[in-house]
Amino acid sequence: MTRDLVGYGGNYPVIRWPEGARIALSLVVHFEEGAEQTPADGDREAERFVEGLVVEGRRRDLNIESMFEYGSRRGIWRLLDLLDKYGAKATFLCCGLAMERNPVAAREIVARGHEACGHGYRWVPYYDVTRDRQRDDIRRTVAAVEATTGRRPVGWSSRVPNADTRGLLIEEGGFLYDSDSYGDDLPHHVDVGGRRWLTIPHTLDVTDERFWAIWQSSGYTNPGNFLRSMTACFDSLYMEGETRPRMMSVALRPRISGRPSRARQLDLFLRYVSGFPGVWVARRCDIAEWWRTHYAGPV
Ligand SMILES: [Zn+2]
Repeated sequence: MTRDLVGYGGNYPVIRWPEGARIALSLVVHFEEGAEQTPADGDREAERFVEGLVVEGRRRDLNIESMFEYGSRRGIWRLLDLLDKYGAKATFLCCGLAMERNPVAAREIVARGHEACGHGYRWVPYYDVTRDRQRDDIRRTVAAVEATTGRRPVGWSSRVPNADTRGLLIEEGGFLYDSDSYGDDLPHHVDVGGRRWLTIPHTLDVTDERFWAIWQSSGYTNPGNFLRSMTACFDSLYMEGETRPRMMSVALRPRISGRPSRARQLDLFLRYVSGFPGVWVARRCDIAEWWRTHYAGPV
């Protein structure tokens, strides 16, 4: 897998979104709760990326498990209701096991008009996962999403991909895009063994994960940090989008942004952007369809 450090280069393309929008806003909810590592599911360690605690990690940790349970029991419903309040349709990155363990919420994601995108059966990175095991994992995820929502996912996002991931998605078929990139502000094609493949980049700067990284210098220390991060990114891309339309992503998690103080920041952000014309709040499957229809060739 070769790297592309040039991309669109200095001559950034002038693309067109539906109705001439200046910005495509992609709201992404990571539904991973119940799929995280825990010895209760046979893992060697408990999940270590958690809410502000130093984790012992080697044993089952009921505090950590219940943090994730909050996302599935309460947080996801708060986020679904908030999205409804603004008529905003989102892309949910769905771990297969999270969907199976909360089929009521899984059904509701699609019933309310959101996209269910594949996110791996468990919430684990693919660093050293073999090709065969990764293929099985993709198939198992697709089956779980389809069984719980009635719809097959057309998008894919790994917790961490490896060099085999894109080739396997193409081999499996049925996928329009992946989001296994943080490399640009716009969708773009990548070469996978001579085939053009669409990637819709995701974000690691406008993400609520920073609430769970408070021990790092990049962590959010109060709820308003997230709102400022979202509005600053929006203002910048909206301004650039006057001449060259852009795409913005916001990454949310039921166990994090589903908490009241953080959900309030999303509420305020959605209210803020609703005051601007030319904002296309779009699911990634819609962005992928638009791209496939209008920009299948070189952009
Ligand atoms: Zn995720």
